[in-house]
Amino acid sequence: MRIDVVTIFPGYFDALELSLLGKARSRGLIDVRVHDLRDAAHDRHRTVDGKPAGGGAGMVMKPEPWGEMLDGILAAQDAGPDPLIIFPSPAGEVFDQRMARELAGESHLVFGCGRYEGIDQRVFDEYADRGRVRLVSIGDYVLNGGEVATIAMIEAIGRLLPGVIGNPESLVEESHEASGGGALLEYPSYTQPAEWRGRAVPPVLLSGNHGAVAKWRQEQRVERTLRMRPELLPPGLSGGRRGR
Ligand code: SAM
Repeated sequence: MRIDVVTIFPGYFDALELSLLGKARSRGLIDVRVHDLRDAAHDRHRTVDGKPAGGGAGMVMKPEPWGEMLDGILAAQDAGPDPLIIFPSPAGEVFDQRMARELAGESHLVFGCGRYEGIDQRVFDEYADRGRVRLVSIGDYVLNGGEVATIAMIEAIGRLLPGVIGNPESLVEESHEASGGGALLEYPSYTQPAEWRGRAVPPVLLSGNHGAVAKWRQEQRVERTLRMRPELLPPGLSGGRRGR
């Protein structure tokens, strides 16, 4: 998968050189390219923001540097056939595991990280007229910029790409994964020692009885989802307890 990121803070994306995604990049599974928006601002101060039209607090990102930068990325010889531009925005559709799976099927994603009060609306309109654009929120709260949101999305999408996670089985039963028997939360996990500070690993997990372990885990998933996120429970599993 090819990913381009446009930002005024390229340093944020150094984090993508670490851990599993860093390995995936060095193995050529994900090609991430980070672009400094200020490279497309040509005045002495490399200005990317201006006062809001109509007045008001804060500054708005100017359209010209965005236009030059995005045109360059989309016109590159090695751009994907139909890139999807994602603008992180608290006003966008909410990102979830289902969207991560959907986006993992794309060949070329372009993330445009807003700052200040956001990006001039004409940038969204221009690229929505010319191709595919999505505004995506990572939750109902406001960050200072799109960088952290973009990193969160790249990590969630990247770990679903074939070969990134060593054992794909580990993806199946995770929280929010419909493939694990409904979009339930994951069961609690334990490791050695069998007892720690007087707290024992549930005996069933040490019984060697795979059927009993699977049954216990499924019960835990339902119980935990009911307690923490009742709205996620599929109707068949709620047993009339949904939303209690
Ligand atoms: N004035 C904007 C509003 O009220 O919708 C908020 C702008 S925010 C301070 C600056 C940038 O942070 C946004 O352009 C967006 O890129 C990013 N951002 C903030 N919260 C976000 C969220 N929940 N999800 C995704 N991106 C977010």
